[in-house]
Parts: sequence; C-alpha cells; structure tokens
Amino acid sequence: MKEDVVIFNEEELGLTEAICKLCTEEDELDKRIDIRYIRKYSPEDILSEREERVYRQQSLIGKYKGTLIVIRVNYPGTNKNNYISFGILKEISALIIAVFKNFILYKNFEITAEGPIVTMVLNESCNNAKNKTVEIEENHLLGRCVDIDVYDENGNSLSRRELGISERKCYLCCSPAQNCVRSRKHSIDEIENFMRLKYQQFCDLSIL
Ligand SMILES: [Zn+2]
Repeated sequence: MKEDVVIFNEEELGLTEAICKLCTEEDELDKRIDIRYIRKYSPEDILSEREERVYRQQSLIGKYKGTLIVIRVNYPGTNKNNYISFGILKEISALIIAVFKNFILYKNFEITAEGPIVTMVLNESCNNAKNKTVEIEENHLLGRCVDIDVYDENGNSLSRRELGISERKCYLCCSPAQNCVRSRKHSIDEIENFMRLKYQQFCDLSIL
C-alpha cells in the first residue's frame, strides 16, 4: 500500500499553485491534478494510513524536537483527493506557513488516503501554535473545512479545552462537532455540499 501513496516533496508543491490558479474551473482542475497519482482508496486504507501517519509524526517530533502541526481537510467519504480539498488545503496551509514563516523547521505536503496533508514542525511553543491555528479554524471562511492538529514536543495532541477555548461546533447543526462525527449525523452528500459551497464562496471572493 505504501508504494501507491505518492509523496510530493517541496519542489513539487508547485503543482498545488497550478491547481489553485484554476480553482474555479472544475474540469480544468481535475486535468491539472495528475490523476495517475490519485488512486481510489477504501475505508480500510484510510484507517491504516492514519496509523502510519501517527508513527511518522512521532518520528518527526523525535527528530526535530519541536511543535508539530498537521493540516488536513475534513472531507467526507473515501474520495478525499479532489479539486475542492486541494484548493482548501492550499489556501489554509499557505496562510499557516506565512504566520509561522520564521519558525519552520520542517514542512511536507503529501497526497494520501486521508486526502492531501501538510505537516510542519515549528520552533514555536505549542500553546502559541494552537491559539493561532484555532483562530484560523474559527475565523477563516474555509477554517471549518480543515482540522489543524497541534502536538507538543512529547507527541501529545493539544486540546482546545486545555487552553480554555470552546469546543468545535458542527458547521451544519451547531452541536459539538465530535458528537456529529461519532453518530454520523450528517450524510456524505450534505457535508460535501457544504464544502463545495464554502469553497465556491471563497473563490468568488478571491476573484473580486
Ligand atoms: Zn451536526
């Protein structure tokens, strides 16, 4: 399975630039994403990818001894690599890279069963990193479409509660987000439509 997951290095990040420029033209965009590299994934692939990611994260923290940030798009279903998820990740990760530009020890972009992911290690306190990323999750137009996880130097995930920040609300019904995820309250179509709409709004605003 590992061999099928194509990892883009930083030079290849240029690909996402190209994708973003064409973000409003769906058909064009799908041509720009090299489809050969994007295979179909099963729910099992997503689970095992998540396990492998945890190992990779631990080894990065051990190597760089810094705060780890993982940016993912919480796109529903198994087709997590598409022009919407790429466009959303591109925008949010560019913003986070700009915010922490003087503190980046490591940065990587990859296309996985879990969708596109940006991983960074920062020479910055985990509390500061968490506060800044929560601000983006809460206030950016696309902030609700992403999960930005922050880990301390010991590999512990920081929760909003530890910093006295209110829990995430579901963007569809305003219940605590975790409850909706656990009970699968919303259909894939419903969530997909929300993402599509948000991304369209974002692209419309960017053109103005
Ligand atoms: Zn909900």
